[in-house]
Amino acid sequence: MSKSPAFSVCVYCGSRPGAEPAYAAVAQQVGRWIAEHGGQLVYGGGHNGLMGLMADACLQAGGRVIGVIPKALVDKEWAHTGCTELHVVDTMHERKRIMAEHADAFLALPGGIGTFEEFFEVWTWRQLGYHGKPVGLLNLNGYYDSLLVFLNSAVKQGFMNEWQMDLIRTSTDAATLLETLVTEAGLASENPKLDQI
Ligand code: AMP
Repeated sequence: MSKSPAFSVCVYCGSRPGAEPAYAAVAQQVGRWIAEHGGQLVYGGGHNGLMGLMADACLQAGGRVIGVIPKALVDKEWAHTGCTELHVVDTMHERKRIMAEHADAFLALPGGIGTFEEFFEVWTWRQLGYHGKPVGLLNLNGYYDSLLVFLNSAVKQGFMNEWQMDLIRTSTDAATLLETLVTEAGLASENPKLDQI
């Protein structure tokens, strides 16, 4: 029987490659880092864009990859059939719940509307106490600078507070951020079951 992974990171990222080669490079770096540190990648199970590049890099470095994808996207031929485990589910809600249940930590890389939605959802769940898992945002090339400016303005305008901002970890460096998340995940207390949400 194969050894169980040391940790499991759920990564959200673009289903497109982005305009700069640096985005592809960082997605591959994240996939490799997880494999080389004995971890497991959990992601949306697609083969397009950064998602596919990250999964391929993890698999090529000998890592385990769990993909979770709704049937509707499999029908569009967007699934990555090389995943160690590919869970085909009925709905987007089920997908996100299963991804979250398999994760010790969450990380958002550069991406589009799907990535934003997934990042905000796990951050919201965290601030409500539905889970205690670390949540990270990789601010590569300043991609999320303007989002962070906006979030800080939401704090100033009284719709958010510093405590909520302190729940997310941000860095411009993928390895630093992954180390922080994995370390914090090791210190995190028991998480309530996400099916209580
Ligand atoms: P986006 O950031 O809009 O490209 O969306 C990427 C995120 O949404 C991923 O983390 C996936 O979970 C989900 N997603 C969007 N498009 C796809 C796709 N073509 N195949 C699989 N998952 C996708």
